[in-house]
Amino acid sequence: MKKIRKRSFIVLLMTIAFFAGLVYHTVNIYINAKEWVMKPQNLHLTAAGNLDHGGKILDINNVVLAQSIDGERIYNDDELVRKACLHVVGDDKNSNIFNCIQEIYRADLIGYDFTFGLGMPKDLRKGKDIRLTIDSNLQKAALTALGDKKGAVIFYNYKTGAVACMVSTPTYDPQNRPNDLESNEAYEGVYLNRALWGQYTPGSTFKLVTAAAGLENIRDIENKVLQCKGADIIGNEAITCEFSMGTVNMRDAVCYSCNIYFGHLATELGKARMFKQAEKMGFNSRIEFDGMESAKSVYDVSEADVNDFAWSGVGQYNTLETPINVAMISAAIANGGIPVTPYIVQSITDNDFEHSSSFGNAIMSAETAEKLSDYMDYAVENNYGKYRFSSRFDVCAKTGTAEVSEDGQDAHAWITGFCKDEDFPYAFAVVVEHGGSGYDNAIPVAAAVLSAAEETLDSGMTYK
Ligand SMILES: [Zn+2]
Repeated sequence: MKKIRKRSFIVLLMTIAFFAGLVYHTVNIYINAKEWVMKPQNLHLTAAGNLDHGGKILDINNVVLAQSIDGERIYNDDELVRKACLHVVGDDKNSNIFNCIQEIYRADLIGYDFTFGLGMPKDLRKGKDIRLTIDSNLQKAALTALGDKKGAVIFYNYKTGAVACMVSTPTYDPQNRPNDLESNEAYEGVYLNRALWGQYTPGSTFKLVTAAAGLENIRDIENKVLQCKGADIIGNEAITCEFSMGTVNMRDAVCYSCNIYFGHLATELGKARMFKQAEKMGFNSRIEFDGMESAKSVYDVSEADVNDFAWSGVGQYNTLETPINVAMISAAIANGGIPVTPYIVQSITDNDFEHSSSFGNAIMSAETAEKLSDYMDYAVENNYGKYRFSSRFDVCAKTGTAEVSEDGQDAHAWITGFCKDEDFPYAFAVVVEHGGSGYDNAIPVAAAVLSAAEETLDSGMTYK
């Protein structure tokens, strides 16, 4: 009798455990289903969840970037648009494009609904349409300007966060996928969205970080001057400039990009204050929005000797920065020191999704932001040339030529900045890998996108 009772008690325990497990797994699947169904390694579900009946992806002006017709995923008619939008939209037949809309929002696009599950016939599922903030005209302009160079372009609204342009090269046409993607050197790193995941030596664009640290920490620093003779010993080695700049204050040092000035400023600030300012400005953490995320920008001077540390203040040494981080710093300068969080999904149909802007903590004071803004304005006026940009916009900028080899032949060309314009309040960053000087080779890329923006505004469309 006792034995039977004991046995039924065990059966009871097992029954409870079974149902508890069932409830646990059901709840777990319910909670995690959206993530689970999107995992590319989940082959069975990916096959069932492909996009051949998926919803549309549209740009800000409702230009169709991707849609499904007769069970096939079709991209925009224009090859340039298809290539320019690859890293944002993705490639349904090649899941290697990392962190793209068709990957992140797959469940919405295929109309995945837990209540009915994936057992529902594909043609009865209702895929949702996703409208993005990007403008395919700006995408095209950026891609054309980058040409066959590797690099990245990002433009985003420093008041709302809307990303109008995010292009990465090399790229390819998802409608006519080349079969040498894995073997041809020209496609090296093609699956990576360099605007978010490219980590580059920032060169002189980093002087904005050092300048901010100086303005935040040293009283009246902007009025102190230094004699630039083209070379100066800091530590045991020289810090060099392109030419002897004579007497320079901070504004001149930003405008003409004086390495000696910023090498000395970093030295005066010391590692702790430089590190603190860099971390405040996004280094050593990721930028995340709408399911997308970036690599980390790296500022690590723990092992730097005196000369290395001076070079870190000039954006060299081991410093690495992502294009989106560079753009974020310009966006904060334009917006009184407060960075807005970027966003790229404007709306999802049948989803009460309504975008609202969100802001991070101030990365510098409003006074510091205003001074840096004035210096970037001065640099365009006195060095880069206002005539090189569309006359419609009031452009403030800082270029960079980031040395990545000893002979200085292989530099990355940079420009970052923003427009002080109510109808186009956009901050930007451009990097051209091994593009040479920022002045010669990054400015034209930013200028090409601005000209396309001017055309869009002239045609009556807005970027609000
Ligand atoms: Zn100098």
